[in-house]
Amino acid sequence: MYYGFDVGGTKIEFGAFNEKLERVATERVPTPTDDYQLLVDTIAGLVAKYDNELACEGKIGLGLPGMEDADDGTVLTVNVPAAKGKPLRKDLEAKIGRSVKIENDANCFALSEAWDEELKDEPSVMGLILGTGFGGGLVYEGKVFSGRNHVAGELGHMRLPIDAWFHLGDNAPLLGCGCGKKGCLDSYLSGRGFELIYEHYYGEHKKAIDIINAHADGEPKAVEHVERFMELLAICFANIFTANDPHVVALGGGLSNFELIYEEMPKRVPKYLLSVAKCPKIIKAKHGDSGGVRGAAFLNIK
Ligand SMILES: [Zn+2]
Repeated sequence: MYYGFDVGGTKIEFGAFNEKLERVATERVPTPTDDYQLLVDTIAGLVAKYDNELACEGKIGLGLPGMEDADDGTVLTVNVPAAKGKPLRKDLEAKIGRSVKIENDANCFALSEAWDEELKDEPSVMGLILGTGFGGGLVYEGKVFSGRNHVAGELGHMRLPIDAWFHLGDNAPLLGCGCGKKGCLDSYLSGRGFELIYEHYYGEHKKAIDIINAHADGEPKAVEHVERFMELLAICFANIFTANDPHVVALGGGLSNFELIYEEMPKRVPKYLLSVAKCPKIIKAKHGDSGGVRGAAFLNIK
């Protein structure tokens, strides 16, 4: 049995998956906001409860919005304050008496998609999230590749490619990022970025969904904005694809529901790729909101 925990800012979702990767149990509990011991006890309590109910000793994986420090194993996160700076994996392992894997939630999202029935034989799957922020994860041969510092896949903090700068022109917006740098892809390709770019060029704040609806109605500013955004997305995707060459790319997050992306990328990406490369298959993520807990559980498959 594989146990996955998706630890978010407000709730912890637990899922148990059998050997066929079918979900056999689900539970959601509030995330303790600032009580670390309660966080450890909550997770350990769910493990004990489902070990008992399912008569097994589940393998434990945990996804969270952040990562472990590569050297001392403490958790780097802003969204789960109770875990911030704490050696969560070590403390859980001591409490439960079993090994625990911890990964960034974007990597869990990618892993969840990579173990989808239709994709599980693909050598590499990249997950890209176009949500509040822009991020991703890389899965090679069914395993997350997270790098020396667990920052592989943190594509949102790559800076804009030079082609993007030329494309945006003299009035290009230089947007700041939560990481302290300027020009991070996170500020341009996310749903938030989609709105910020619109605001920069047209001086008014509109929600992404309203811009998309206006685009469908043929409203000129929305049409111009979407054209500008699609080309920008293609330029940035092509840079990412040239460096990583994934077989399949699954898109998640709110903006991934914009169907035009799947029509436009195969047409626009190739001209920015290294000439010998071809555009990978780009699909909409299938597991949506359950991706975090699935991916966390599947950290222990291989
Ligand atoms: Zn950044």
